[in-house]
Amino acid sequence: MKKETLCVHAGQTEETVNTPIFNSTATDYIKKPYIYPRKQNVPNQQVVIQKVAALEKAEDGLIFSSGMAAITTAILAIVRHGDHVVLQSDLYGGTHVFVHNELPKYGVTFTLVEGTRPTAFREAVRPTTRLIYIETPSNPLLKITDIRAVADLGKEKQILTAIDNTFASPINQQPATLGIDMVLHSATKYIGGHSDLSAGVLVTSRTLRDKIFPTALMLGGSLNAADCYTLERSLKTLALRVERQNDNAMKLATWLEQEKKIQHVYYPGLESHPQHVLARSQMNGFGGVLSFEIEALETRRFFSKLKMIKPAISLGGVESTICSPAETSHQKLSPEERRRVGITDSLVRLSVGVEAVEDIMDDIQQALKSI
Ligand SMILES: *Cc1c(COP(=O)(O)O)cnc(C)c1O
Repeated sequence: MKKETLCVHAGQTEETVNTPIFNSTATDYIKKPYIYPRKQNVPNQQVVIQKVAALEKAEDGLIFSSGMAAITTAILAIVRHGDHVVLQSDLYGGTHVFVHNELPKYGVTFTLVEGTRPTAFREAVRPTTRLIYIETPSNPLLKITDIRAVADLGKEKQILTAIDNTFASPINQQPATLGIDMVLHSATKYIGGHSDLSAGVLVTSRTLRDKIFPTALMLGGSLNAADCYTLERSLKTLALRVERQNDNAMKLATWLEQEKKIQHVYYPGLESHPQHVLARSQMNGFGGVLSFEIEALETRRFFSKLKMIKPAISLGGVESTICSPAETSHQKLSPEERRRVGITDSLVRLSVGVEAVEDIMDDIQQALKSI
Protein backbone atom coordinates (compact mmCIF):
# COMPACT_ATOMS: atom_id res chain seq x y z
CA MET A 1 0.00 0.00 0.00
CA LYS A 2 1.03 3.58 -0.59
CA LYS A 3 1.76 5.94 2.29
CA GLU A 4 -1.59 7.81 2.11
CA THR A 5 -3.40 4.47 2.52
CA LEU A 6 -1.06 3.26 5.28
CA CYS A 7 -1.75 6.46 7.24
CA VAL A 8 -5.44 5.58 7.27
CA HIS A 9 -5.42 1.79 7.56
CA ALA A 10 -2.11 0.41 8.89
CA GLY A 11 -2.20 -1.02 12.38
CA GLN A 12 -5.98 -1.02 12.78
CA THR A 13 -6.85 -4.29 14.46
CA GLU A 14 -10.22 -3.68 16.08
CA GLU A 15 -13.48 -4.31 14.25
CA THR A 16 -14.36 -0.66 14.82
CA VAL A 17 -12.86 1.97 12.53
CA ASN A 18 -11.15 3.76 15.42
CA THR A 19 -9.54 2.05 18.40
CA PRO A 20 -11.66 2.64 21.53
CA ILE A 21 -9.63 4.28 24.30
CA PHE A 22 -8.46 1.52 26.65
CA ASN A 23 -8.24 3.40 29.90
CA SER A 24 -7.91 0.53 32.35
CA THR A 25 -4.53 -0.05 33.95
CA ALA A 26 -5.73 -3.27 35.58
CA THR A 27 -7.03 -6.35 33.75
CA ASP A 28 -8.15 -9.82 34.77
CA TYR A 29 -4.81 -11.52 34.09
CA ILE A 30 -6.34 -15.00 34.20
CA LYS A 31 -8.75 -14.27 31.34
CA LYS A 32 -6.65 -11.81 29.30
CA PRO A 33 -2.97 -11.05 28.85
CA TYR A 34 -1.82 -8.52 31.40
CA ILE A 35 -2.33 -5.16 29.67
CA TYR A 36 -0.39 -2.29 31.22
CA PRO A 37 0.75 1.07 29.72
CA ARG A 38 4.40 0.77 30.70
CA LYS A 39 4.50 -2.67 29.04
CA GLN A 40 3.49 -0.97 25.76
CA ASN A 41 0.76 -3.54 25.09
CA VAL A 42 -2.28 -1.25 25.29
CA PRO A 43 -4.25 -1.50 22.00
CA ASN A 44 -4.07 2.30 21.51
CA GLN A 45 -0.28 2.24 21.87
CA GLN A 46 0.02 -0.67 19.45
CA VAL A 47 -2.04 0.99 16.70
CA VAL A 48 0.19 4.07 16.72
CA ILE A 49 3.40 2.00 16.81
CA GLN A 50 2.23 -0.21 13.94
CA LYS A 51 1.15 2.78 11.81
CA VAL A 52 4.51 4.54 12.20
CA ALA A 53 6.38 1.26 11.66
CA ALA A 54 4.41 0.63 8.45
CA LEU A 55 5.13 4.15 7.17
CA GLU A 56 8.83 3.83 7.99
CA LYS A 57 8.97 0.26 6.60
CA ALA A 58 10.27 -0.98 9.96
CA GLU A 59 9.11 -4.11 11.80
CA ASP A 60 8.12 -2.82 15.21
CA GLY A 61 8.64 -0.04 17.72
CA LEU A 62 7.95 1.65 21.03
CA ILE A 63 5.89 4.68 21.99
CA PHE A 64 6.93 7.35 24.48
CA SER A 65 5.55 10.36 26.29
CA SER A 66 7.94 12.72 24.46
CA GLY A 67 10.57 12.78 21.76
CA MET A 68 13.24 13.16 24.43
CA ALA A 69 11.93 10.04 26.24
CA ALA A 70 12.32 8.10 22.97
CA ILE A 71 15.80 9.48 22.26
CA THR A 72 17.22 9.06 25.77
CA THR A 73 15.74 5.58 26.18
CA ALA A 74 17.13 4.42 22.84
CA ILE A 75 20.63 5.72 23.62
CA LEU A 76 20.69 4.45 27.21
CA ALA A 77 19.45 1.03 26.09
CA ILE A 78 22.39 0.66 23.70
CA VAL A 79 25.39 2.06 25.56
CA ARG A 80 27.29 0.72 28.56
CA HIS A 81 30.12 2.06 30.70
CA GLY A 82 33.23 2.43 28.53
CA ASP A 83 31.36 2.76 25.25
CA HIS A 84 31.72 5.60 22.77
CA VAL A 85 29.07 7.31 20.64
CA VAL A 86 29.54 9.37 17.46
CA LEU A 87 26.92 12.06 16.86
CA GLN A 88 26.61 14.85 14.37
CA SER A 89 27.19 18.27 15.93
CA ASP A 90 23.94 19.77 14.60
CA LEU A 91 21.61 18.19 17.12
CA TYR A 92 18.26 19.10 18.61
CA GLY A 93 19.03 21.26 21.68
CA GLY A 94 17.68 18.70 24.16
CA THR A 95 19.76 15.89 22.65
CA HIS A 96 22.85 18.10 22.74
CA VAL A 97 22.36 18.82 26.45
CA PHE A 98 21.59 15.15 27.17
CA VAL A 99 24.82 13.82 25.67
CA HIS A 100 26.90 16.52 27.39
CA ASN A 101 25.31 16.32 30.83
CA GLU A 102 24.07 12.75 31.21
CA LEU A 103 26.31 10.40 29.19
CA PRO A 104 29.45 11.24 31.24
CA LYS A 105 27.60 10.10 34.39
CA TYR A 106 27.42 6.60 32.87
CA GLY A 107 31.05 6.58 31.77
CA VAL A 108 30.09 6.92 28.11
CA THR A 109 32.23 9.14 25.89
CA PHE A 110 31.15 10.78 22.66
CA THR A 111 32.48 12.67 19.64
CA LEU A 112 30.51 15.31 17.77
CA VAL A 113 31.27 15.59 14.06
CA GLU A 114 30.23 17.88 11.20
CA GLY A 115 27.52 15.75 9.63
CA THR A 116 27.88 17.25 6.17
CA ARG A 117 31.56 16.23 5.87
CA PRO A 118 31.54 12.81 4.14
CA THR A 119 34.51 11.27 6.01
CA ALA A 120 33.72 12.78 9.42
CA PHE A 121 31.89 9.76 10.84
CA ARG A 122 34.50 7.24 9.69
CA GLU A 123 37.32 9.30 11.21
CA ALA A 124 35.54 9.52 14.57
CA VAL A 125 34.82 5.80 14.96
CA ARG A 126 36.85 3.98 17.63
CA PRO A 127 37.00 0.29 18.62
CA THR A 128 34.60 1.13 21.50
CA THR A 129 32.03 2.98 19.33
CA ARG A 130 28.59 1.40 19.84
CA LEU A 131 26.31 3.93 18.15
CA ILE A 132 26.30 6.52 15.37
CA TYR A 133 23.52 9.07 15.75
CA ILE A 134 22.35 11.52 13.07
CA GLU A 135 19.58 14.08 12.54
CA THR A 136 18.68 15.14 9.01
CA PRO A 137 17.39 17.65 7.98
CA SER A 138 18.97 19.27 11.02
CA ASN A 139 17.45 21.84 13.33
CA PRO A 140 17.41 24.72 12.54
CA LEU A 141 19.84 25.05 9.60
CA LEU A 142 18.36 22.17 7.55
CA LYS A 143 21.74 20.61 6.89
CA ILE A 144 21.60 17.23 5.20
CA THR A 145 23.54 14.16 6.35
CA ASP A 146 24.15 11.30 3.92
CA ILE A 147 21.91 8.64 5.49
CA ARG A 148 23.03 5.77 3.26
CA ALA A 149 26.75 6.48 3.87
CA VAL A 150 26.19 6.42 7.65
CA ALA A 151 24.11 3.23 7.45
CA ASP A 152 26.80 1.54 5.31
CA LEU A 153 29.54 2.59 7.72
CA GLY A 154 27.52 1.17 10.62
CA LYS A 155 27.07 -2.16 8.81
CA GLU A 156 30.75 -2.34 7.85
CA LYS A 157 31.95 -1.66 11.42
CA GLN A 158 29.04 -3.46 13.16
CA ILE A 159 27.98 -0.28 14.92
CA LEU A 160 24.29 0.51 15.45
CA THR A 161 22.94 3.59 13.70
CA ALA A 162 20.11 5.90 14.80
CA ILE A 163 18.40 8.88 13.22
CA ASP A 164 16.16 11.61 14.57
CA ASN A 165 13.70 11.75 11.65
CA THR A 166 11.40 14.37 13.21
CA PHE A 167 11.94 17.14 10.64
CA ALA A 168 11.33 14.92 7.61
CA SER A 169 8.42 12.94 9.10
CA PRO A 170 7.86 9.38 7.84
CA ILE A 171 6.25 10.87 4.72
CA ASN A 172 9.36 12.58 3.37
CA GLN A 173 12.08 10.15 4.43
CA GLN A 174 12.25 6.43 5.35
CA PRO A 175 15.78 5.94 6.76
CA ALA A 176 15.15 2.27 7.64
CA THR A 177 14.92 1.56 3.89
CA LEU A 178 18.43 3.05 3.55
CA GLY A 179 19.77 0.76 6.28
CA ILE A 180 19.50 2.83 9.48
CA ASP A 181 18.79 0.61 12.52
CA MET A 182 16.69 2.92 14.71
CA VAL A 183 14.37 5.70 13.55
CA LEU A 184 13.23 8.20 16.18
CA HIS A 185 10.54 10.87 16.12
CA SER A 186 9.32 13.61 18.34
CA ALA A 187 5.66 12.88 17.55
CA THR A 188 4.93 16.20 19.25
CA LYS A 189 5.75 17.71 15.83
CA TYR A 190 4.51 16.39 12.45
CA ILE A 191 3.03 13.08 13.59
CA GLY A 192 0.82 14.84 16.16
CA GLY A 193 0.57 17.83 13.86
CA HIS A 194 -1.92 19.95 15.80
CA SER A 195 0.27 21.37 18.60
CA ASP A 196 -1.84 19.63 21.23
CA LEU A 197 0.16 16.67 22.56
CA SER A 198 3.62 15.46 23.49
CA ALA A 199 4.84 12.07 22.28
CA GLY A 200 7.80 10.18 20.88
CA VAL A 201 8.20 7.08 18.72
CA LEU A 202 11.02 4.67 17.99
CA VAL A 203 10.75 2.16 15.13
CA THR A 204 13.27 -0.56 14.38
CA SER A 205 13.66 -4.31 13.78
CA ARG A 206 11.76 -6.66 16.09
CA THR A 207 15.06 -7.97 17.52
CA LEU A 208 16.32 -4.51 18.39
CA ARG A 209 12.92 -3.45 19.71
CA ASP A 210 13.04 -6.42 22.11
CA LYS A 211 16.56 -5.41 23.21
CA ILE A 212 15.49 -1.81 23.94
CA PHE A 213 12.19 -2.77 25.57
CA PRO A 214 13.55 -3.67 29.07
CA THR A 215 15.17 -0.20 29.33
CA ALA A 216 11.96 1.46 28.13
CA LEU A 217 10.01 -0.54 30.70
CA MET A 218 12.31 0.57 33.54
CA LEU A 219 12.69 4.23 32.50
CA GLY A 220 8.92 4.27 32.22
CA GLY A 221 8.35 6.97 29.63
CA SER A 222 5.43 5.30 27.80
CA LEU A 223 2.40 7.16 26.42
CA ASN A 224 -1.14 7.01 27.81
CA ALA A 225 -4.08 5.59 25.85
CA ALA A 226 -5.92 8.90 25.37
CA ASP A 227 -2.94 10.63 23.76
CA CYS A 228 -2.36 7.52 21.63
CA TYR A 229 -5.94 7.85 20.42
CA THR A 230 -5.28 11.46 19.38
CA LEU A 231 -2.11 10.33 17.63
CA GLU A 232 -4.00 7.58 15.79
CA ARG A 233 -6.39 10.22 14.49
CA SER A 234 -3.53 12.57 13.58
CA LEU A 235 -1.68 9.87 11.67
CA LYS A 236 -4.62 9.38 9.32
CA THR A 237 -4.01 12.84 7.82
CA LEU A 238 -0.22 12.87 8.10
CA ALA A 239 0.42 12.43 4.38
CA LEU A 240 -2.15 15.09 3.44
CA ARG A 241 -0.74 17.59 5.90
CA VAL A 242 2.93 17.02 5.12
CA GLU A 243 2.42 17.15 1.35
CA ARG A 244 0.72 20.54 1.73
CA GLN A 245 3.45 21.73 4.09
CA ASN A 246 6.12 20.63 1.57
CA ASP A 247 4.41 22.62 -1.19
CA ASN A 248 3.90 25.72 0.95
CA ALA A 249 7.49 25.66 2.25
CA MET A 250 8.93 25.28 -1.26
CA LYS A 251 6.94 28.28 -2.51
CA LEU A 252 7.86 30.39 0.51
CA ALA A 253 11.57 29.50 0.33
CA THR A 254 11.69 30.40 -3.37
CA TRP A 255 9.97 33.72 -2.69
CA LEU A 256 12.04 34.60 0.41
CA GLU A 257 15.26 34.03 -1.53
CA GLN A 258 14.32 37.06 -3.69
CA GLU A 259 13.37 39.31 -0.75
CA LYS A 260 15.85 42.16 -0.12
CA LYS A 261 15.48 42.22 3.68
CA ILE A 262 16.30 38.51 3.91
CA GLN A 263 20.00 37.67 3.88
CA HIS A 264 19.97 33.92 3.51
CA VAL A 265 17.37 31.17 3.15
CA TYR A 266 18.07 27.63 4.34
CA TYR A 267 15.81 25.03 2.71
CA PRO A 268 16.93 21.69 1.23
CA GLY A 269 14.47 22.07 -1.65
CA LEU A 270 16.31 25.12 -3.00
CA GLU A 271 18.95 24.56 -5.66
CA SER A 272 21.13 27.00 -3.73
CA HIS A 273 21.19 24.59 -0.77
CA PRO A 274 24.69 23.04 -0.63
CA GLN A 275 23.29 19.51 -0.25
CA HIS A 276 20.27 19.87 -2.52
CA VAL A 277 21.32 16.93 -4.72
CA LEU A 278 21.84 14.68 -1.69
CA ALA A 279 18.48 15.82 -0.24
CA ARG A 280 16.80 14.90 -3.54
CA SER A 281 18.37 11.47 -3.46
CA GLN A 282 17.13 10.56 0.02
CA MET A 283 13.90 12.55 0.52
CA ASN A 284 10.51 12.40 -1.23
CA GLY A 285 9.71 15.94 -0.13
CA PHE A 286 11.77 18.63 1.59
CA GLY A 287 9.62 19.27 4.65
CA GLY A 288 7.77 22.15 6.21
CA VAL A 289 10.61 23.91 8.05
CA LEU A 290 12.79 26.61 6.58
CA SER A 291 15.12 29.14 8.17
CA PHE A 292 16.35 32.53 7.13
CA GLU A 293 18.58 35.35 8.28
CA ILE A 294 16.91 38.67 8.77
CA GLU A 295 18.81 41.93 9.30
CA ALA A 296 20.54 41.70 12.68
CA LEU A 297 18.60 42.69 15.81
CA GLU A 298 15.32 42.96 13.93
CA THR A 299 13.86 39.54 14.72
CA ARG A 300 11.90 40.65 17.80
CA ARG A 301 10.41 43.62 15.94
CA PHE A 302 9.65 41.46 12.93
CA PHE A 303 7.84 38.90 15.11
CA SER A 304 5.78 41.62 16.80
CA LYS A 305 4.52 42.84 13.39
CA LEU A 306 3.24 39.43 12.29
CA LYS A 307 -0.54 39.20 12.50
CA MET A 308 -1.26 35.53 11.81
CA ILE A 309 2.04 33.68 12.35
CA LYS A 310 2.69 33.21 16.07
CA PRO A 311 6.10 33.05 17.71
CA ALA A 312 6.07 29.50 19.10
CA ILE A 313 8.77 27.04 20.12
CA SER A 314 7.30 23.88 18.65
CA LEU A 315 6.90 23.02 14.97
CA GLY A 316 5.07 20.71 12.60
CA GLY A 317 1.56 21.90 13.41
CA VAL A 318 -1.15 22.79 10.92
CA GLU A 319 -0.57 26.44 11.86
CA SER A 320 2.49 28.37 10.71
CA THR A 321 4.74 29.37 13.61
CA ILE A 322 8.03 31.21 13.87
CA CYS A 323 10.88 31.31 16.36
CA SER A 324 14.38 32.53 17.04
CA PRO A 325 16.46 29.36 17.68
CA ALA A 326 19.02 31.38 19.67
CA GLU A 327 16.24 32.33 22.11
CA THR A 328 14.46 28.97 22.15
CA SER A 329 15.70 25.54 21.07
CA HIS A 330 19.39 26.48 21.36
CA GLN A 331 19.16 28.84 24.30
CA LYS A 332 20.89 26.35 26.61
CA LEU A 333 23.98 26.28 24.42
CA SER A 334 26.72 28.74 25.28
CA PRO A 335 27.16 31.66 22.83
CA GLU A 336 30.40 30.00 21.57
CA GLU A 337 28.67 26.67 21.00
CA ARG A 338 25.91 28.50 19.11
CA ARG A 339 28.45 30.33 16.99
CA ARG A 340 30.23 27.05 16.25
CA VAL A 341 27.02 25.45 14.92
CA GLY A 342 26.10 28.61 12.97
CA ILE A 343 23.08 29.81 14.95
CA THR A 344 23.15 33.60 14.93
CA ASP A 345 20.84 35.99 16.78
CA SER A 346 19.39 37.02 13.42
CA LEU A 347 18.35 33.50 12.42
CA VAL A 348 14.60 32.85 12.15
CA ARG A 349 12.99 29.41 11.87
CA LEU A 350 9.63 29.17 10.17
CA SER A 351 7.44 26.09 10.56
CA VAL A 352 5.06 26.25 7.64
CA GLY A 353 1.47 25.22 8.24
CA VAL A 354 -1.31 24.08 5.92
CA GLU A 355 -2.85 27.56 5.43
CA ALA A 356 -3.17 29.05 1.94
CA VAL A 357 0.39 29.98 1.02
CA GLU A 358 -0.76 33.45 -0.14
CA ASP A 359 -1.92 34.27 3.40
CA ILE A 360 1.41 33.19 4.91
CA MET A 361 3.27 35.29 2.31
CA ASP A 362 1.04 38.31 2.92
CA ASP A 363 1.68 38.17 6.63
CA ILE A 364 5.46 37.95 6.21
CA GLN A 365 5.46 40.67 3.55
CA GLN A 366 3.51 43.20 5.62
CA ALA A 367 5.75 42.51 8.65
CA LEU A 368 8.91 42.92 6.56
CA LYS A 369 7.62 46.25 5.22
CA SER A 370 7.33 47.65 8.72
CA ILE A 371 10.90 46.90 9.78
C1 LIG B 1 11.09 18.62 19.46
C2 LIG B 1 12.21 17.78 19.01
C3 LIG B 1 12.73 16.78 19.83
C4 LIG B 1 12.25 16.56 21.25
O1 LIG B 1 10.94 16.15 21.28
P1 LIG B 1 9.94 16.42 22.53
O2 LIG B 1 8.68 15.79 22.07
O3 LIG B 1 9.88 17.88 22.75
O4 LIG B 1 10.56 15.73 23.70
C5 LIG B 1 13.75 15.99 19.34
N1 LIG B 1 14.25 16.19 18.10
C6 LIG B 1 13.77 17.13 17.28
C7 LIG B 1 14.36 17.29 15.93
C8 LIG B 1 12.74 17.96 17.70
O5 LIG B 1 12.28 18.91 16.89
